[in-house]
Amino acid sequence: MSDFYEILGVEKGASKDEIKSAFRKKARTLHPDVNKAPDAEAKFKELGKAYETLMDDNKRATYDRYGEDGLKNAGFNTGGPFDGGFGDLNDIFNSFFGGFGGFGFGGGRQDPNAPQVGDDLRADVEITFEEAVFGVNKEVKFDHLELCPECGGTGAEKGSKPITCPTCGGSGQVQTVARTPLGAFTQISPCPDCHGTGQKISNPCKVCKGYGKIEKEKKIEIKIPAGVDNHSKIRVSGEGDAGSNGGRAGDLYVVLHVKPSDYYTRDGADVYTKLEISPAQAALGDEIVVKTLDGEQKVQIHAGIQNGNTIKIRNAGVPILSRPSQRGDHIIVVTVKIPTKLSEQERNLYKQLYELKSEKKESLMDKVKGVFQ
Ligand SMILES: [Zn+2]
Ligand SMILES: [Zn+2]
Repeated sequence: MSDFYEILGVEKGASKDEIKSAFRKKARTLHPDVNKAPDAEAKFKELGKAYETLMDDNKRATYDRYGEDGLKNAGFNTGGPFDGGFGDLNDIFNSFFGGFGGFGFGGGRQDPNAPQVGDDLRADVEITFEEAVFGVNKEVKFDHLELCPECGGTGAEKGSKPITCPTCGGSGQVQTVARTPLGAFTQISPCPDCHGTGQKISNPCKVCKGYGKIEKEKKIEIKIPAGVDNHSKIRVSGEGDAGSNGGRAGDLYVVLHVKPSDYYTRDGADVYTKLEISPAQAALGDEIVVKTLDGEQKVQIHAGIQNGNTIKIRNAGVPILSRPSQRGDHIIVVTVKIPTKLSEQERNLYKQLYELKSEKKESLMDKVKGVFQ
C-alpha cells in the first residue's frame, strides 16, 4: 500500500497550494515523455492518483481516516480518472500545466513546433511586519527549468541532430479511418511516435535526457517595496520556466507572507496598538511615551479619557503602496485598567476617594431632608 503524502513528498497537513506545487514538480520529471525509465508511467499514474485524492476534500478526509481501502469502501473510484487509460491522465496533466510546452499530446494543440511560452512559477517568501512596512531587499531561492546548456535546448546529443520521424514522415500527424454504420471517417491526430513534432531524437543529450531543459536552482535578490501586505505578489519577469521552440520564459510570482507582529495590528495603511492606563491617569491625564513605527514618541492622554477611546498619531502608519509619500495613521486604543491588587497606601487613597463621594451624597440627603421636615 502506498502513502499518497509520501508519493507527493508533502507533510500530512499540507495545503492545497503545497500539494499542487509538489505535484507540478514531480509530474514534469515523471511524465513518460520526459522520463524514459520503464516504471515512469506507473509512477506517474500513482502520482496522479495521489494528487487527485488529496485535492478533493471528501476523498482526502476519507483517506486520512481509513486509507486507500477506505476510499474503495466509501465508493470512491480509487483509480480516479486514471483507470481509464493514459489519455485521461494527460488531460489532467495538460489542464494543470496549461499545455506542457513541447509535448504534442492532449489533442487540442495546433502546431507542436510553434514557440511556446514557458510556465509561470510561484515562490513564497516570509517577511517581518516591519519589513512589509518599510520595504526590504530579499533573496529568493527557487527551481526553474532552463534551456539545457549542453544541447542548447534541442535535446539531441552534441554533434547530432533530430531525425525525421519515421512514423509520420515528418508531418507530425497520422490518419486513422474509423468505420461506423454511417460510413468511414478519417481522423487526423498527432503522431503518437513524435507527439506531433515530426522529429525524433535518436541520440538524446546526456545532460537533459532529450528534454532540452534542465531544472536548476536559482537565487535572485528582489526589492520588496514599502507598504506591501500579506499575500501581496511581486512579478519577476522572465524567471519562470524556459519556453520551447524559441518561446520566451514564463514569469516568477513571489508571494509574500507577512509574519504578524505581537504589538501592531494592521488595517490597510493604518496600524493599531493597545495601551493600558490606570484610573488615575485616565482621570488626571498624562504624557506617556509609546513605541511607533518611527521609534518612541510622546503622546498626550487628556484628562477624563474613557475606556475604549482612541488616540491618533497621524502619518505614523504604513506607507501607501501606490503613493509611498503618504502614510496611514497609528491609532492607539486605550484600556483603563482597574487594579485588582492594592497596596496599603493605595487602599487608603481609594478609601478617601470613596468617602469623599459618600460625604457629598450625605450632605445632599441632609439638605433634601431639611426641606421636607
Ligand atoms: Zn541537453
Ligand atoms: Zn511522427
